Amino acid sequence: MGRPGDGGVERVDVVVVGARCAGSATAIALARQGRSVLVLDGARFPSDTLSTHLFFPAHVAEVARLGALERVRALGAPTHDVAGLWGDDVMVDGPFAPFEGHAHGWSVRRPGFDHALVETAREAGAEVRESTRVTDLVWGGGGRVEGVRWRDRDGEEGTVRADLVVGADGRHSTVARLVGARAHHEVPNHRMMAYAYYRDPPHADRHAALQWRFGRELGTVFPCDGGLSIALLMSPADRADEFRADPTATFEATLATIPPMAERFADAERVTKVRTSYKHPKYFRHSAGPGWALPGDSGHFKDPVTAQGIRDAMRFGRLLGEAVGPLIGDHAAIDRATRLWERDRDDQCLDMYQWANGLGEADEVSPIESAAYRWLAARPDGATEVLDVFSRRRLSTEVFSLGRAARWAADALRHPRAGRAEVWRTLRRDAVREARRRREAIAFTRVRAASARAGLQPPLPASVDGQAMVSPPSTTTV
Ligand SMILES: Cc1cc2nc3c(=O)[nH]c(=O)nc-3n(C[C@H](O)[C@H](O)[C@H](O)COP(=O)(O)OP(=O)(O)OC[C@H]3O[C@@H](n4cnc5c(N)ncnc54)[C@H](O)[C@@H]3O)c2cc1C
Repeated sequence: MGRPGDGGVERVDVVVVGARCAGSATAIALARQGRSVLVLDGARFPSDTLSTHLFFPAHVAEVARLGALERVRALGAPTHDVAGLWGDDVMVDGPFAPFEGHAHGWSVRRPGFDHALVETAREAGAEVRESTRVTDLVWGGGGRVEGVRWRDRDGEEGTVRADLVVGADGRHSTVARLVGARAHHEVPNHRMMAYAYYRDPPHADRHAALQWRFGRELGTVFPCDGGLSIALLMSPADRADEFRADPTATFEATLATIPPMAERFADAERVTKVRTSYKHPKYFRHSAGPGWALPGDSGHFKDPVTAQGIRDAMRFGRLLGEAVGPLIGDHAAIDRATRLWERDRDDQCLDMYQWANGLGEADEVSPIESAAYRWLAARPDGATEVLDVFSRRRLSTEVFSLGRAARWAADALRHPRAGRAEVWRTLRRDAVREARRRREAIAFTRVRAASARAGLQPPLPASVDGQAMVSPPSTTTV
């Protein structure tokens, strides 16, 4: 796969835009099948990105499937053998059940982790070209995407033609914009994120990932590599102006209002500035069309409150690569496979999407939730059951079933500290939300299809046979 360097045209089986979780995973799966893969990324690795990095056992299993486990292990992050959720003075904590043989979580900083994936993709046979941004698409006759145009840091430009263009280029995806992929089921975030790294003292428990809910605040600690822990606050989004005015002071003052979190970080020293994300709306995006596909955040973004994005980016990148690898050369078969891949991704992600949207509401711990915390804490396997949802071993609707919700509501009504009016108010609110969630789940396929139809326009190729390299107006969706 020679680089032309003079604005000439290269040819590969698949070009992947973006080299992190989704892009490297797609490239690894394709390269292992002997396909020629070129991955282009504007970043230079190791490179950080705005993201915390909590891993559940299902994340670890994906890393193993990609063949990157030893590289990631070598970064030295402590395993999370226990995880706990604290609400209303009750801690629900316990071990993880194994997922594909992996029974621990992790928190691995993104520069090292993403670099490990990039190196694994190279080892598998993919070419990964850094500091190179994709600027436009190459369109063939009939509205099929046939390649990309790129520009590197030195201003050099070129064209790559391929059977498939994979836009693994994140939430602000260039590929999604250029093909006109529409979002559907969009939900604004009700919690913002603010995080910083702390150096742990020798006595810190570095094998437990913990979450605390206190009032409307939600705080977490994820011990990670480098002797550090990440402190993450998911405060209500309506506090964004306070954080904008003074991120550090607001972060530290908020952390101090969550007593067990303040205690956990009492002897730890903050070693980075506070990083914030105020707006990160959640969505599904139409992710497959003639000659293109969107794995990872470019095609679907969940509320980070459940920490699933890295796993899903790797998983659906890998599954995309595995699905199209055998079909190179047959455009109709590739386009059929990417459509099926998108439906499978949506089927596998909808439950988690909806659950994350529910957890992402910036509510106080309700009396019914308090009853749930007490009930789960009293069960020997209560924590593991909840962790099974984060680990994708069980659906959220199994663990947080209507039957259990009714039981927790009855427990709340009997509890001496819970006001009956507050319990009934919460019950009404939760019933409305649950009805909305069910309606959305039942109508999901229909609404997705309607969204696709609404975006359909006759293809507008800017050229025949890709001779001209200008993208058509980006309104088309499939
Ligand atoms: C605040 C926050 C916290 C989070 N915490 C967690 C967590 O704890 N656990 C978890 O599992 N998930 C978490 N997530 C989600 C996770 O960050 C994402 O789901 C994951 O990074 C998606 O990977 P990706 O490969 O799809 O995209 P990205 O990681 O966004 O990578 C996209 C890549 O594409 C490149 N690119 C973009 N445009 C171009 C272009 N035109 N040309 C070339 N290259 C391009 C970029 O340089 C980048 O390297 C969090 C997200 C946020 C916002």
